[in-house]
Amino acid sequence: MSKVYEDTKFLMKKYGITANKKLGQNFLIDENVIDTIVNTSEISSDDLVIEIGPGLGTLTQKLLQKAGKVIAIELDERMISILKDRFFIYHNFEIINEDVLKVDLNKLIKENKEQLGLKRTKIVANLPYYITTPIIMKLLEEKLNIESITVMIQKEVADRLTAIPGGKNSGAITYTVYYYATSEEVLTVPNNSFIPEPEVESEVIKLNLRKEPVIKVKDEKKFFSLIKSAFMQRRKTLLNAIGNSGLNTTKEQMEQILKELDIDTKVRGEALTIDQFAKISEKL
Ligand code: SAM
Repeated sequence: MSKVYEDTKFLMKKYGITANKKLGQNFLIDENVIDTIVNTSEISSDDLVIEIGPGLGTLTQKLLQKAGKVIAIELDERMISILKDRFFIYHNFEIINEDVLKVDLNKLIKENKEQLGLKRTKIVANLPYYITTPIIMKLLEEKLNIESITVMIQKEVADRLTAIPGGKNSGAITYTVYYYATSEEVLTVPNNSFIPEPEVESEVIKLNLRKEPVIKVKDEKKFFSLIKSAFMQRRKTLLNAIGNSGLNTTKEQMEQILKELDIDTKVRGEALTIDQFAKISEKL
């Protein structure tokens, strides 16, 4: 058995921890996977790292050895004292006991970078799978000043996030990711790399944030509502999906727009490119 497996078992026994399924607790016990996450995130002493869901601190320890500062955000109070005990010798460690979805990350990043003179911010995590999508959406939509997001997520979601918009596996979130970032699939991770084992296969992905969104869109809100409406009823043609959506457009108006743009009026939303969505949203 690996050292990280032994350490995890030891910590769980010492502190009487059983994994809380509701909080998506699957602790990493595979040294190679941990090293891959850390190496992929390319951390240096100039970096502020925000780790979401540090759990028992397996990944945190390696991050602390490389980063200028690590801020770990953990919801489970039981982990807080363990992490404090474990990492009290590190002066570059801060722990926040909060739901990550409620944390003002913009403020946190700005204050820490200014105070410590750190150059870049990177997000690293073995994410709690039950809230993968809201977390990724928050990280992108809040337009944080971050360089990259390296995360372990369920494979099915990874395929969606890293798909080409309009291609196989694409969903509404594919367009959001592509708009803000480039993406890469780094490593498929088997279930036995965790205790307890998750019920789904996992994958490490990396998103590199673009300096500017990939295309210029006049009204982002309208653009993303259009995409969301199109995927809400993805089996329908765009015309039928839009007709029933909350967008302020009739089926007839949409038909006219598609004709003007030379797009097949029987097209389904999932077949449209990001440019086509942008052009349609500009005519709405
Ligand atoms: N990083 C550890 C590892 O790799 O072994 C644990 C990863 S585990 C998949 C996910 C972690 O996220 C758990 O520690 C869980 O308590 C924490 N978590 C769950 N929901 C959270 C939330 N809303 N905000 C912050 N942390 C959360």
